[in-house]
Amino acid sequence: MTRPARFNNAKIVGCLFTCSALYFAAFAAQAQQPSSSSSPPPASQSQAQQRPAPALTKDTTKIVLLGTKGGPALRAHSAAVFSNVVIVKGVPYVVDAGYGATRQLLQAGVPLTMLRYVFITHHHSDHELEYGPMLYTAWANGLRTPIDTYGPTGLKDLDSNWWKANQLDIQVRIEDEGRTDPNRLVTAHDFDFDKEGVVFENDDVKVSALRVPHPLVSNAYAYKFETKDGKIIVFSGDTAYFPDLARFAKGADVLVHEVMYGPGIEALAKRIPNGATLLKHLKESHTFAEDVGRIAQAAGVKTLVLSHFVPGDDPSITPEMWAAPVRENFKGNIVVGKDLLEIPF
Ligand SMILES: [Zn+2]
Ligand SMILES: [Zn+2]
Repeated sequence: MTRPARFNNAKIVGCLFTCSALYFAAFAAQAQQPSSSSSPPPASQSQAQQRPAPALTKDTTKIVLLGTKGGPALRAHSAAVFSNVVIVKGVPYVVDAGYGATRQLLQAGVPLTMLRYVFITHHHSDHELEYGPMLYTAWANGLRTPIDTYGPTGLKDLDSNWWKANQLDIQVRIEDEGRTDPNRLVTAHDFDFDKEGVVFENDDVKVSALRVPHPLVSNAYAYKFETKDGKIIVFSGDTAYFPDLARFAKGADVLVHEVMYGPGIEALAKRIPNGATLLKHLKESHTFAEDVGRIAQAAGVKTLVLSHFVPGDDPSITPEMWAAPVRENFKGNIVVGKDLLEIPF
């Protein structure tokens, strides 16, 4: 059997500055436990590994945090890199695909052959590195049905370059194994909104995107999922503090917001040679925990889920330390995210 080629996309290399900055800010997973009083019962890694997740049915509607770590770096103890799946009436809608997303989908009980829709918030590798491998593996697992993917301008290139980079393997498998051409199964859709717009709509859900500030990435977006039975789920994506996000997320049942811990990044900056540059980047492009609380309060969301934790390699930051500065400004339900945590809505 041949082995698939490794991901080799030039656009990812182009993200080197920010990605390397976040490399030092990668989050240590084992520090994450859901906050004691305000979280749903955790689906721990060990539980998930011991018990097969229930199969998706038409009644399955929930969010699963597949990976909760900000930045593309990976360590032995790390959480999976940022990725999520929103399941509406048994149909999975993947939101971002950082490294590890494919295995996390399986751990969450989502058969890869059931993949149908993928949404990418922006072109940083901790949100899209496993875009191609996830689709490839779904195809290798026997996917025969269409997949539509959506993302800011550049997604079509990411998609076509992935299949091109792996064409030798794919051609051999089509011949040797009688497989269909994955290029015919996957359709990538680019979008570019000045401010916001509707990305997608079907009988069950409408997905809108809001452009958010995340320098140096010029086209980064938050996503809003509105189900036809009135539920609203919002993902901030990666963003600096952006009060307009509160309008976009008004009345949301669940807001999954990125989070950065101020004392943690100050300490981080003192430990590394490029600390001053990193600190400047993080402050300009991500949201402090206190401001996450401000957004959630202004939006009046029912449940705020913290994820995409920065910094990443400071296990001294406890779940309560993540939640406390958020709670200063937000009086609703706070969930400190964790890999494979399920959030009903
Ligand atoms: Zn990120
Ligand atoms: Zn980013």
